[in-house]
Amino acid sequence: MISVEEHRATVTELLGTRPAAELPLADCAGLVLAKDVHASVSLPPFDNSAMDGYAVRSVDVAEATEDSPVELPVREDIPAGRTDVPVLLPGTAHRIMTGAPLPQGADSIVMVERTDAGAERVRIFTSTAPGSHIRRTGEDVGVGMVALSAGTVLGPAQLGLASAVGMDRLAVHVPPRVLVVSTGTELVLPPQELRHGQIYESNSVMLVAGLRALGCRVESVRSVADDVDQFRAAIEPRLADADLVVTSGGVSAGAYEVVKDALTGAGVRFAKIAMQPGGPQGYGRWNGVPVVTLPGNPVSVLVSFEAFLRPAVLTSLGHTGVDRQHVRARLTETLESPKGRRQFRRGYYTHSAGQVTGLVGPRGGPGSHLLAAFTQANCLIVLPEDVTEAPEGSEVDVLLL
Ligand code: AMP
Ligand code: MG
Repeated sequence: MISVEEHRATVTELLGTRPAAELPLADCAGLVLAKDVHASVSLPPFDNSAMDGYAVRSVDVAEATEDSPVELPVREDIPAGRTDVPVLLPGTAHRIMTGAPLPQGADSIVMVERTDAGAERVRIFTSTAPGSHIRRTGEDVGVGMVALSAGTVLGPAQLGLASAVGMDRLAVHVPPRVLVVSTGTELVLPPQELRHGQIYESNSVMLVAGLRALGCRVESVRSVADDVDQFRAAIEPRLADADLVVTSGGVSAGAYEVVKDALTGAGVRFAKIAMQPGGPQGYGRWNGVPVVTLPGNPVSVLVSFEAFLRPAVLTSLGHTGVDRQHVRARLTETLESPKGRRQFRRGYYTHSAGQVTGLVGPRGGPGSHLLAAFTQANCLIVLPEDVTEAPEGSEVDVLLL
């Protein structure tokens, strides 16, 4: 049997590193920057007012107080966006709005609240220190500096900065186009009525949601019968448009293992991983396209996604630190685990103020069909390969989802 780490490394290597390309900013959210961004302008690009108020020379209002205001003629109105800003002459004021360029000759801004807000003449009730309420050119970013470095995850703030320094496209690791395939003659799609022996398909829904959340572009084939010819006919024509194929079902030890039967000898290898659930796994290339084949039970799919696909896809997109947060927690009940396999149990973790370690209890049993229990879990309890019983009160490793 292959260890969880070994298979994770195999899948990570199979997916490799996604090529970089320039995408419009709006398509870059959540992706990783592939090249440094140098600022083509300073931020701010020019000295400007931080307040709505009046641009003045501080010496002209040095004597101003609440009781004895200084009155100045207002010579210009400078809203934000005005590009032809006249010089401020001594003994005068310019009315100015937040973000408008500071006129030459002015050395400070008096906020409108400390004046009578006059339009022709203004009475100013306070003195100002030179430089007050002025945002200086380049105090946020200097022109030519690295505004964002390669490897940065592009969230709202990073994308905003990219636009602020003049970028409309960014070089990012482009998400893969993933084809998700559910196999099983028993699978039916809602709202079609179920006949006895049939079930509603759920794996593709989970994989599509999980992969999209990582940034992948995903399409799915939601119900392929357990028939090798039908499987090949449904998927082979679509391989050219996929960077990755993820299948579920048809890889274990039964008699109708369609994925195994179709892909053995076609570049995909099947193996047993020392874990529960999610033991039977496959990986390889089909017509050159990376393929990861997951077992069919829904909980196995979700655990396989966590253990293998999620870290591999994130790594391929240039993310680092792709592991979920691990914590130690005390078990609220005794759990059993098969010898020689790492067990991932669905759990609920709580950590209240004052507790040294948190508490964790299972949600549902070990059965890999218990999907409803997974929806009530917020973590996976990890029981190592050599553990067969983890007693109530003992500390275990918990992966926070
Ligand atoms: P298999 O690995 O194909 O033998 O499937 C194992 C179990 O998972 C069986 O009970 C299947 O009915 C179930 N299963 C397989 N694929 C799906 C799917 N896409 N949605 C829901 N259940 C599935
Ligand atoms: Mg099946």
